[in-house]
Amino acid sequence: MGKTLLGSFVTICFLLTASCSGGSSGSDSSFPYSTAKNYFKSTATISMEIYYETGSEPFTGATAGGMNYWDILEDNLTAIFQYRSTPPTITVPKTLAEMTSIPAQGKTEWTGIDIVNLHKQYHGQLPSSRDSRFYLYFLDGNYSTGSGPETGVIGVSLSGTPIIAIFKDVVRSSGMNPNGVVPRYVEQSTLVHEMGHALGFVNNGVPMVTAHQDTAHGAHSTNTDCVMYWMNEGASDLSQFLQNYISSGDTVMWGPEVLQDAQGYSE
Ligand SMILES: [Zn+2]
Repeated sequence: MGKTLLGSFVTICFLLTASCSGGSSGSDSSFPYSTAKNYFKSTATISMEIYYETGSEPFTGATAGGMNYWDILEDNLTAIFQYRSTPPTITVPKTLAEMTSIPAQGKTEWTGIDIVNLHKQYHGQLPSSRDSRFYLYFLDGNYSTGSGPETGVIGVSLSGTPIIAIFKDVVRSSGMNPNGVVPRYVEQSTLVHEMGHALGFVNNGVPMVTAHQDTAHGAHSTNTDCVMYWMNEGASDLSQFLQNYISSGDTVMWGPEVLQDAQGYSE
């Protein structure tokens, strides 16, 4: 609904401890192609540009079973676009060599505007209607609405834009072992969740087939087994949600309601 990129258009997600203030859907005139309609009805390609502050690089590499962690994001994108008559070509970088390091910014807090300003400084190619691009920023410090750091916020999707930020300190603190498997899954599942918002879920551009929006928490699903559920009961619940995926090797985290929405809207 908004035309400007302000803090109110940030969808805050995957809170470990604090309450989720949700987000409102909007569009920004800077990103005319960043619409659910374009993604599910016409775009031919979907690719990512990934930037990280030195020292806050994304997790890369593979599980003991040989699955690349970035397969989780890729598999979920493939699943959500399976209903297109011609699914878009999806390109997800999986090694640090395919991502871009930027100097440490020395910030402890990031507002939505700060993230947009960083994006303006570093982004490469612009999206077009045919070639959709998303921009993922891995940052030190915490998200802030302007009134102090939100230490429980792992990631944000700036609504109406293709910009996502992941707060690496929060990812690292999400498991008993900061270099264990859990933070790696937390990072990937947060990317899936934020991409879900950016693509138009829940009821954030892609209309619902069945009523499953947790309206008290914005663009989230009422299905506790869906990656778009608002994780409101702390780190142990998120870890528990992810444990099923860690033990089974399954990667697709969308609930059936979200997939049904994608199917209903795809052309
Ligand atoms: Zn969310």
